[in-house]
Amino acid sequence: MARIKLRIQRPWIPYIIFIVTLTLTLLTTYYVSNATYTEDRLRFFNAVQDTNINIETRLQTYIALLRGTAGLFAAEPAVTQQQFTSFINRLNLQKNYPGTQGIGFIQIVTNNDKNTFIQTVQSQENEQFTINPQGNRPVYYVVRYFVRRDQQAPSNIGTDMFVTSIRRSAMEKARDTGTSVISGKVVGLTQDTHKKVIGFIIFTPVYRSGEVPSTLAARRANIQGFVYSPFQINVLLTGIVGNRRIPQLLNYQIYDGTQLNNTNLLHSSRTIIKEEATNYLPRFHDTRHIVIAGRTWTIVFTNQPQFEVESENNLSTLIFIGGLLISLMFFTLSRSQYLARTNAEIAATRLQFSQKELQKAVTHRDNFISIASHELKTPLTSLKVYAEVLLRQFSKKGDEKTADYLKKMNRQIDKLNLLIQDLLDISRIQTKQLSFRIEKFDMNEVVKEVTENTQQITNHHRIALRGSIKRSVWGDRERIGQVLVNLLTNAIKYSPHANKIIVSMKETNEHAIITVQDFGIGISKEHQKKIFDRFYRVTDTNEHTYPGLGIGLFISQAIIKRHGGEISLTSKQGSGSLFRFTIPFNKIQIDKS
Ligand code: ADP
Repeated sequence: MARIKLRIQRPWIPYIIFIVTLTLTLLTTYYVSNATYTEDRLRFFNAVQDTNINIETRLQTYIALLRGTAGLFAAEPAVTQQQFTSFINRLNLQKNYPGTQGIGFIQIVTNNDKNTFIQTVQSQENEQFTINPQGNRPVYYVVRYFVRRDQQAPSNIGTDMFVTSIRRSAMEKARDTGTSVISGKVVGLTQDTHKKVIGFIIFTPVYRSGEVPSTLAARRANIQGFVYSPFQINVLLTGIVGNRRIPQLLNYQIYDGTQLNNTNLLHSSRTIIKEEATNYLPRFHDTRHIVIAGRTWTIVFTNQPQFEVESENNLSTLIFIGGLLISLMFFTLSRSQYLARTNAEIAATRLQFSQKELQKAVTHRDNFISIASHELKTPLTSLKVYAEVLLRQFSKKGDEKTADYLKKMNRQIDKLNLLIQDLLDISRIQTKQLSFRIEKFDMNEVVKEVTENTQQITNHHRIALRGSIKRSVWGDRERIGQVLVNLLTNAIKYSPHANKIIVSMKETNEHAIITVQDFGIGISKEHQKKIFDRFYRVTDTNEHTYPGLGIGLFISQAIIKRHGGEISLTSKQGSGSLFRFTIPFNKIQIDKS
C-alpha cells in the first residue's frame, strides 16, 4: 500500500502566539516594575524630606527658645533665681518643649571673683552652694540656675561646665560668634536612673551689654554667661518623629559631623522603633546634612521592611505570573486547536486516499468484468451451437431422454448468455458504448410478446395485461423489451408467495407509460433510493436468498434515460412493488452519453 504523504501546515503558530504573549507580559511587567520603583523612590524621598525638615525645624525652635531666654538678661543683667525660674515656668517646658531636659544659666566667674561670688550665692540662694569640681582655675563657667522640664530639683547647680572639653569648645564658639551653638556628642548619666544617655547641649551667649558686641575682642571681654539647654537625643527625636506614621517607614542614623562612625553616632532610629530587621537589605538610601547652630549633623536614611509592604512592588510579580499563566493558556489552547486541525487533516487525507484506492478497486473490477464477459462470450456461443446440433441429432434418433437433457442444457446456456449480455452492457454503459437501433414500433406488440414469453417460464404466477397504447413509439425495440423482461423476472423472483402480476399500458400526449406491479416482498423506503445503482442489492435477512447480481435495474434505467424517458418505483415493504417507465412518442436523438 502506498504511503500517505501529509503536509502539516504552520506548526509554529502556537509557539509564535506563546512568544508574543510572553513578550507582552515581560514588557508590561517591566513597565509596571519601573513605575512602581519610581513611585517608591518618590515616597521614600518625601519621607526623608519630611523627617529632615522636622528635625531641623524643631532644633530651630529650641534655638529660638534659648535666644528668647537670653533676652531676659539683656533687659535685666542681674536676673535673680526667682525671676529666672518664673520666666522658664511660664514657658511650660513639659507641655510645649518636651525635647529639652531643662533650661539653665551659666555664669562666668573669674578666679578673683570666685569667693565673693560663692558668698553672694550662698547668702541669696543656697547656703550649700559650691563650685564643682573644687580647685583653683583661672575662670569658672558655673551653672547658676537650672529649671528642669519635670520641675524636679536640679542637681547640677554649681557645676563648672568649662572643665569638659566638648562643652568648653561649644561655649567658646558661642562666645566668639555671638550665636547659639550646638555642642558635640555628650555622653552622660540621667539624674534619676543613672542610665547612660547620649545628648547634646545648646548654648546661647549672654553679654553684659545686652547686645552682641561687634568685635571678637569685645565679645570675649563682655561675655557674662550662657543660657543653655541639654537634650537627650532619643527623647527629642521621639518628640519629633516618634508617633508620626511616615518616618516609621524609615530608619535613620544621626551622626555628629560628617564622619560616619560609632563615636560620632548620636542616634539610631532602631533604638526607638523596635522592628529590628537584621537580614533585611534596604532598597533605598539617602544621606542628608543639617547645618545648624555651628554644627553639622549627618543623617543617613534607609527604608524599613514595612516600606516595601506598602509598595505596589508585588503588582509586577502578580502581572508576571498572571501573564505567564495566560501565555501558557493561549499556547495550550492554540496547540490543541492546531493538533485537532492536524488530526482532521490527516483523517481527510486518509479518506481521500481510501476513496482513490476504492476508485481504483472499482476500476479493476469493471475491467475484470469487461474482459471476463468478452472472453466467456465466444466459448458460450460455440457451446450453444454444439448443444443445438446435438439436440437435433438425438431428436432425429428418437432418443427423447438425451434430447430432454440437452434442452435443459440449452436453457442454462441461455441464462448464462443473458447474464454475460448484462455484464457486457454494464461495461458498455461505463465506456459509453451502449448502442441502439432506433426504429418505429408498436409498443403493444413488444409488451404482449415479452409477457407471453415470461409467462412460459412461470407456472406459479399469472401475468395480467391491461390497457393498450395506440400510437407507435420510436426507440430500440430489443432494449425496451430487455427492460420489460427485467422488470417481469424481478416481479416473479421477488413475489414467491403471490401469484399475480399486472402489466399495464397507458399513454399521455407525450408519453407511453408501462407499469409492472407485483404483490411480493416490496422494498423499504431506505433502499428505494439506491436500487437503481450498479450492483446494489437489498441485503436484509430475507432477501439474501434471492439470486442476482444487482445490475438489471441499473441497465434498465440507463436504457430508459437514453430514450428520454423516466423509470420510477412505488413500493411498500411486504405489500409489493410497482415499477413504471415512460417512453416519449417524439423521435429523439439518442447519443452515446
Ligand atoms: P437483481 O439481479 O439482484 O435482481 P436488480 O438490479 O434487478 O438486480 O435489482 C436490484 C435489487 O432491487 C434486487 O436485488 C432486489 O433487492 C430489489 N428488487 C428489484 N425488483 C424488485 C421487486 N419487484 N420486488 C422487491 N425487490 C426488488
